[in-house]
Amino acid sequence: MDVLISGAGVAGPCLAWWLLENGHRVTIVERAASPRTGGYIVDFWGQGYDIAERMGILPRLLDAGYRLDELRLVDADGQRQSGVRGKAFLSVTDGRFISLPRGELSLALVDVVKDRARMQFADSIAAIRQDAQGVDVTFEHAPSRRFDLVVGCEGLHSRTRDLAFGPREAFERYLGYQFAAWIMPDYPHRDEDAYLAYGEPGRTAARFTLRDGTSLALFLWRDAEGEPIPHEEAGQRALLRRRFAGMAWEAAEMLAALDGARDLYLDRIAQIRMDRWHKGRVALLGDAAFGPSFLAGQGAALAMIGAYVLAGELRRAETVEAALSAYHARLAGFMKAKQDAALPIGRAFVPETPFGIRFRAAVGRLMNVGWIAKAAFGRTLTDRIDLPDYPTGAG
Ligand SMILES: Cc1cc2nc3c(=O)[nH]c(=O)nc-3n(C[C@H](O)[C@H](O)[C@H](O)COP(=O)(O)OP(=O)(O)OC[C@H]3O[C@@H](n4cnc5c(N)ncnc54)[C@H](O)[C@@H]3O)c2cc1C
Repeated sequence: MDVLISGAGVAGPCLAWWLLENGHRVTIVERAASPRTGGYIVDFWGQGYDIAERMGILPRLLDAGYRLDELRLVDADGQRQSGVRGKAFLSVTDGRFISLPRGELSLALVDVVKDRARMQFADSIAAIRQDAQGVDVTFEHAPSRRFDLVVGCEGLHSRTRDLAFGPREAFERYLGYQFAAWIMPDYPHRDEDAYLAYGEPGRTAARFTLRDGTSLALFLWRDAEGEPIPHEEAGQRALLRRRFAGMAWEAAEMLAALDGARDLYLDRIAQIRMDRWHKGRVALLGDAAFGPSFLAGQGAALAMIGAYVLAGELRRAETVEAALSAYHARLAGFMKAKQDAALPIGRAFVPETPFGIRFRAAVGRLMNVGWIAKAAFGRTLTDRIDLPDYPTGAG
């Protein structure tokens, strides 16, 4: 088949790899001019980790990754209040847990497909028209082409979803929080391999020290209404300065570092909930279809699980329609459970009262006790799904 994948983040290149293994021809269209680097740190474990291993990219990910030593909660003076040791996560996942910049994961995936797929950077789908045999795609720049299947992997704000399924308001579930992440090139305070977080009611500031001399800032805040996010970076910086004005710890320094910041990312925390992920020969994958939100901490791995299953079902089923239905049937319940499990996590990340902040610190202490960590994280960190061992190869 001739397959068009829109989006070269995590889901897109992962799907491309499995489709190429099965002998399909793949085109990837990506809005950005080149693979997007940098960005925030994602945690990576479970079946997504296993899939990366089967693709042969695990050594590269382990090289690029960090072994989180501690998630440390600090007080207004930066003194340790409590924390969760990285080994708590490792013990629940049998050592198969890694934190790495999302850009590194994406780049590793793009690198293993870029010479075999047709890469169309700095372009986007402009229009889609499908019939029973195929999909005619108009691009913003490249000439129009016809494909057997189009898969939208453009993340939360998917263009393919808008075009084929309708406006996102029908599918987006806002969770009442917003967040921002940015890279601070010369931030003076460094604590290797630790996430440091400080909270005040309704807002949390955190930072993570990166290897190349830079640091990652991560700000999260409660916003029940969901104030609109300005498009321009200047407006986004102003919003952050207003929301975090007067905050103690290093918040003022981190806000000052916004001026020289790289890769500022500011968004609503939302999930995508859909009854189906396909319509005719157009399908959705990753955040575009079942975005679990930042709070799930597993979106990248889930996107890879989806890619593996979608490619496997396309290999196995007689028709595209049957494959897309099987892809949805196999994963819908699993993804919904992951989304449901993420819902209460906002309150842990951003307590809304002084009591809530003290309670979080107390819970942080308990999480270092092995069996308590297992009981608390086990459910979230374990992927309760058996994935078929799909055959690969053209067939
Ligand atoms: C701050 C933050 C922290 C996170 N932490 C974690 C974590 O700890 N663990 C974890 O697993 N996940 C985490 N996630 C989620 C994770 O990054 C996503 O779930 C994952 O990247 C989803 O992959 P995706 O390919 O569906 O979308 P994305 O990675 O968002 O990729 C979408 C791609 O599509 C491109 N694109 C967008 N629009 C168009 C268009 N119109 N045309 C063509 N291309 C387009 C984009 O440029 C991008 O390259 C986090 C997310 C955020 C924002």
